[in-house]
Amino acid sequence: MESFEKYKKDIKNKGFATRAIRWQLPRTEHQEHSVPLYLTSSFVFEDAEEARSLFADEKQGSIYSRFSNPSVDEFIQKMCLLEEADDGVAFASGMAAVFGSLIPFLSAGDHVLACRAIFGSTHQILNRILPRWQISHTYLDARARPEEWEAARRPQTRLIIVETPSNPGLDVLDLEWLGRFAREHGILLLVDNCFATPYLQQPVRSGAHLVLHSATKFIDGQGRAVGGIVVGDRDLIKEVRFFARHSGPSLSPFHAWLFSKSLETLALRMERHSTSALELARFLETQPAVERVIYPFLDSHPDFALAKKQMKMGGGVLSFILRGGLESGKRFLGAQEMLSHTANLGDTRTIVTHPASTTHSRLTEEERLAVGILPGLIRVSVGLEDLPDLIEDLTRCIAAAG
Ligand SMILES: *Cc1c(COP(=O)(O)O)cnc(C)c1O
Repeated sequence: MESFEKYKKDIKNKGFATRAIRWQLPRTEHQEHSVPLYLTSSFVFEDAEEARSLFADEKQGSIYSRFSNPSVDEFIQKMCLLEEADDGVAFASGMAAVFGSLIPFLSAGDHVLACRAIFGSTHQILNRILPRWQISHTYLDARARPEEWEAARRPQTRLIIVETPSNPGLDVLDLEWLGRFAREHGILLLVDNCFATPYLQQPVRSGAHLVLHSATKFIDGQGRAVGGIVVGDRDLIKEVRFFARHSGPSLSPFHAWLFSKSLETLALRMERHSTSALELARFLETQPAVERVIYPFLDSHPDFALAKKQMKMGGGVLSFILRGGLESGKRFLGAQEMLSHTANLGDTRTIVTHPASTTHSRLTEEERLAVGILPGLIRVSVGLEDLPDLIEDLTRCIAAAG
């Protein structure tokens, strides 16, 4: 056990990929190389005294898999190593992680500041669920200036929630400024780091109190399992853990085991997702039918300088606007042969979506425009296939879009 403690300390100083590959639970007596999967609902107590001390939190250990499980712990601890966070809690989905990161900190009368460009279901929580408990919010544009944030702040503002880069407008928010603003006013900063992953940016370094992920996306990276996680400040995570333990949105050990193994290739995958996305973005900029390409690492992006400062690479998602608008977007999606049309992102397979006619079709045109969704906007989650094959299919789709 002493050597495991030393190993835990040493691995913190290793490189990103080494941490993601080499962090694992202590080996069992079988000396397995890859970690085993702890598919069990509960754990046996040695005696009455051990049971008592586990329940009293005097001793660390697993009791029941709704509270904790070794496979889930391994995933959490690895994510903490990668995000440079103290502690974390894993959830059955990204949305459970969002809800579980909000509820422990909000009471009736509290106020939330949110970037308007956040995930659709996060909007629903803020718009439809929290108001029933007298928790209000104010939305700010992704491009809001510091004075606008300052003006929107109230004495009751308890928490800020943002995503950067945002979906699907790919706006980049200044994490360092937000971190300072939040800490200056004693407000919690919660960052959804799903698009960037810890390989591209670590919001904790900029002052974020809590960082959450839909593990369904780049963390799994292969479109297999739904899950989520939040990591951050030790005392805050304690509150999240209490909520999760007693309300039950726990991650399945099997999914945790998949995610932990997936993290071993995160660095490699994000490098390839990002280099392919940048090349595709540059290719799309040369296409006459394309009005504009949005990708944080294109020098035409309004936040290019900030993106370069804040992120290691541009990430795996790009958006572009077809000149022909809504109908053009629909025709584009009818022509693909290899590209997948599906409601996910962060997969090995390239996925194209047309938000105006699908995920965001129930919003009004004004509401769509407010979050940067133009009628001809196509979002591409760039996969790991060979680039010439992606270009071939995209070219066909653009020609069909007319
Ligand atoms: C997908 C997604 C979520 C929700 O995660 P699920 O795993 O689908 O519940 C939250 N935030 C962002 C940015 C996402 O892309």
